[in-house]
Amino acid sequence: MTDPARAPERANMSELERNDRDSFFHPSTHVAQFSRGEVPQRVIETGKGVYITDTEGKKSLDGFAGLYCVNVGYGRQEIAEAIAEQARKLAYYHAYVGHGTEASINLAKMIIDRAPEGMARVYFGLSGSDANETNIKLIWYYNNILGRPRKKKIISRWRGYHGSGVMTGSLTGLELYHQTFDLPRTPILHTDAPYYFHRQDLSQSEAEFSQQCADNLEALILREGPDSVAAFIGEPALGTGGIVPPPAGYWEKIQAVLKKYDVLLVADEVVTGFGRLGSMFGALHYDIKPDLITIAKGLTSAYAPLSGVIVGDRVWNVLEQGSDRLGAMGHGWTYSAHPIGAAAGVANLKLVDELDLVTNARETGAYFNRSLKDTFADHDIVGDVRGEGLMAALEFVADRDSRTFFDPAKKVGAQISAACLERGLIARAMPEGDILGFAPPLCLTREEADTIVAITKAAVDTVAASL
Ligand code: PMP
Repeated sequence: MTDPARAPERANMSELERNDRDSFFHPSTHVAQFSRGEVPQRVIETGKGVYITDTEGKKSLDGFAGLYCVNVGYGRQEIAEAIAEQARKLAYYHAYVGHGTEASINLAKMIIDRAPEGMARVYFGLSGSDANETNIKLIWYYNNILGRPRKKKIISRWRGYHGSGVMTGSLTGLELYHQTFDLPRTPILHTDAPYYFHRQDLSQSEAEFSQQCADNLEALILREGPDSVAAFIGEPALGTGGIVPPPAGYWEKIQAVLKKYDVLLVADEVVTGFGRLGSMFGALHYDIKPDLITIAKGLTSAYAPLSGVIVGDRVWNVLEQGSDRLGAMGHGWTYSAHPIGAAAGVANLKLVDELDLVTNARETGAYFNRSLKDTFADHDIVGDVRGEGLMAALEFVADRDSRTFFDPAKKVGAQISAACLERGLIARAMPEGDILGFAPPLCLTREEADTIVAITKAAVDTVAASL
């Protein structure tokens, strides 16, 4: 219900806005403030390239590609046509007991062809969260087949993001997703965030910090008992936890520990898969050898919901043995491999190739990151400028020399994000810390990159002057 004190404003609302405030339960939104009209409503109507336009006619450069997912940009007719054609021909059939559609089979083959070496099969879902749910079940199933019923713990990292379900929200290492939901659940554990800018000891080099992360992971595995630790999950570069590329040597050192204790590695590539870092996968970018890879977002550029788990040979071979003993696996979604999502995926991956978007993410990404560094590296309130490919962030500090953060109550990151929006740019205030994140569509041009940097500069200067 809305606050009666705000009734006069309600009278000015359009019918659509009243219906929105009275009927629609928005995710990740302050629900009471939204109902009362204190949180602005925005209805997005159209999109073209890197721009979206709302029902008021206000156009914004989407520097975050939706939620880092519209990789090919908005308004691609090739994907819309593929979806329409599939819907007319066959909107749905399930994928249980050997069924499928041409689109889902073709897409699985296209994914395996693009994936790092040693990947055997693709299991399709709808969202990054459900794909990670599948990962957890596959990890447990794998160890049950191998007769290791105790080997079930999964280690994630503080600041990781892996979904917001019960188990995947547990994997996520952000307070906002835990507090008030009784999470994390067992058997999920967390280890250090690979976040060099936040290191305790400012005198540490990146290599020393990476070694410390690996040592702490090893100590955790030994404390818990290696026979109880099944898997480790991480994003190749942290996304929602702050957009943080890994420190030098991190993945090499972490993988050595996992190998030593026979712990499976899940690379959550929901954000980094299909080009964002300037390589087809983050695993290829950082020389990671995962056993399971989570994919979503860039798989269809969000033209339709679709996710997947790419299962590596090591797990797949055991699953095959297991099914000879245990029978069919009791795990599936009604919408696994949904034909419309699959048709969108096929058209999307073709477009990624035709437009050479992985190369563009690398080259325009390098240009964009250089430009951010040139503009902000010496700015009074910018403590860190970081990025890789078309993923970047600015982190704001009250004092650069002592790396003193702002009082969170000031919401500096959110203020800067709002100042960008006023000037026609969407840049995301990340959920923990004063961090402004960028993850634009992979078709970004240099001119558009210049626009992002220029607007951000004006926004940062304005907020800095008001502090
Ligand atoms: N993993 C990562 C790395 C993500 O960034 C996200 C979503 N931002 C997810 C998983 C969960 O995906 P979804 O929101 O589609 O469930």
